Amino acid sequence: MSTPPDLLQINPPPRLLMGPGPINADPRVLRAMSAQLVGQYDPAMTAYMTETMGLYRQVFRTANEQTLLIDGTSRAGIEAAILSLVAPGDRVLVPVFGRFGHLLREIAERAGAEVHVIEREWGTVFTEREIEEAVVRVKPALLAVVHGDTSTTLAQPLEGLGELCAKHGVLFYTDVTASLAGNAFDADALGLDAVTAGLQKCLGGPSGSAPATFSAKAVERIESRKSIEAGIAGSSDEIRESRIRSNYFDLAMIFDYWGEKRLNHHTEATTMLYGARECARIIVEEGLDATIERHRMHGAAMLAGVEGLGLSVFGDPAAKMNNVVAVRIPEGVTGDAVRGQMLEDFGIEIGTSFGPLHGKVWRIGTMGYNARKDAVLTTLAALEQVLRRNGAAGAPGAAVEAAYGVYEGAGA
Ligand SMILES: *Cc1c(COP(=O)(O)O)cnc(C)c1O
Repeated sequence: MSTPPDLLQINPPPRLLMGPGPINADPRVLRAMSAQLVGQYDPAMTAYMTETMGLYRQVFRTANEQTLLIDGTSRAGIEAAILSLVAPGDRVLVPVFGRFGHLLREIAERAGAEVHVIEREWGTVFTEREIEEAVVRVKPALLAVVHGDTSTTLAQPLEGLGELCAKHGVLFYTDVTASLAGNAFDADALGLDAVTAGLQKCLGGPSGSAPATFSAKAVERIESRKSIEAGIAGSSDEIRESRIRSNYFDLAMIFDYWGEKRLNHHTEATTMLYGARECARIIVEEGLDATIERHRMHGAAMLAGVEGLGLSVFGDPAAKMNNVVAVRIPEGVTGDAVRGQMLEDFGIEIGTSFGPLHGKVWRIGTMGYNARKDAVLTTLAALEQVLRRNGAAGAPGAAVEAAYGVYEGAGA
């Protein structure tokens, strides 16, 4: 056996992360995450859990009691919601308008659901009528729809769907990982039964915790499938047909852990909870409306900047998210070469794309801690310079000037 090499302490290169996520974590979040651990049932810890529930009720704009963190990245939240809400054989309707719709479909299939999909070309979103028609035809138990899909940079309007679902007895779930805190969103006003998110986009944290909220109707459905682990609170050898097909993502058990019973389940990821709590605390301190407005303004400046460079933008502008823009790669330019030079020479990361958009667009984000004037102007100045070296010169200074125009208009 050879001796292991002396590994150096982790010391990542300085980067400005201006892709579709993850983005640089807010330093305040990183500081919160360096705090020492406490025991799982220490009164300090249970108080932090309760405070975190209250903070996320404000971020989701909900009065739902069951507002908590699922440990894991955003898709842990998606799996917990879908596996806990959907029993094998249940019908699920998924409107797909980008990559993450396909993910919802896949997870619902793995849950044993009978999945029905309606699809839209990437770069467009559904009308309320199209979704209504499918709900009436399919009669699903659950409508699962992505809100903002970073793969296309568009957000599906959710207005009207809550009433539609209530009328037809359908549970209504959305994934707001990419959109929460960067775009208008109100879980209760939209009539949502389940919402899940992640920290690494507009919330300004690292990936690894999935804030989520569940309505009383969703809780009732989940509790009806409840089972209790042997050895925890009396025995329960009886295995029900509808038992939730995951232990880790069994929301009925997770509710009992976060609720007054404090029934043991997994060990809450303490450090991630510190981080998630700080992400929400920062937003509540800034004011959720102000946070969304900050994303709107810096997103508008980035959009004006790339258009100032003479580049065009992908997707229906009426449905574009505030916090990410898909920029068409100009003729004769190799997308990955530009991304490589942005990273190598300027330490700036911009995003590539998946599926039908691969090689066609870059995705540039302005989110969370990086929804800032200096981050936007620096990215635009670097992009102009790198494009010039790649033979796609725009008018010198035009990108930064166009962004300045947006800031001056906003008095910022
Ligand atoms: C970025 C994103 C995710 C990320 O999922 P992870 O498990 O955190 O990688 C999920 N859903 C949507 C809509 C996203 O934009």
